[in-house]
Amino acid sequence: MPQAEQIEHVDEKDLALYLKAQLSEESTSAIDAHLGGCQICVNKLAEQDVCLWYLAELTADKSASDGEKRRHPRLAMDEPATVQMLNPFSIDEWDVRILDVSEGGLRTYTQQLLMPGSLIRVKMKFSVACGDVRYSVPTDNGFYAGVRLHDYFAH
Ligand SMILES: [Zn+2]
Repeated sequence: MPQAEQIEHVDEKDLALYLKAQLSEESTSAIDAHLGGCQICVNKLAEQDVCLWYLAELTADKSASDGEKRRHPRLAMDEPATVQMLNPFSIDEWDVRILDVSEGGLRTYTQQLLMPGSLIRVKMKFSVACGDVRYSVPTDNGFYAGVRLHDYFAH
């Protein structure tokens, strides 16, 4: 008998940790495997406003006062990162480069097309971000893609 009805869905707390890449490798692959076959949980993942964004480089400069008006500095960088598609879901991670970043979004250089409208997770050295792909334009040997990041989250 197919055991589809027996399968436990991923609970929201675990989805949040999954997004933040804070689960063990074992739990992560279990969730990867589940999400690969369960659109219900993929949708739950996509709805979570726990989509997070924390970046050590940005928060370091803001340590002084929380009262200061939030600005949106754009940092120029050229950092390697990996991207995973969350919706539509794929367990594959692609290597990309982050060209610049602000609190609201980032720009990447990718070799594969990131479909506008898809939800992705970007893992950088000090941070994890989730966001929607806004645009993707062809360039030499690849694409520039703009990503609107969800919710800012200071670590
Ligand atoms: Zn599920």
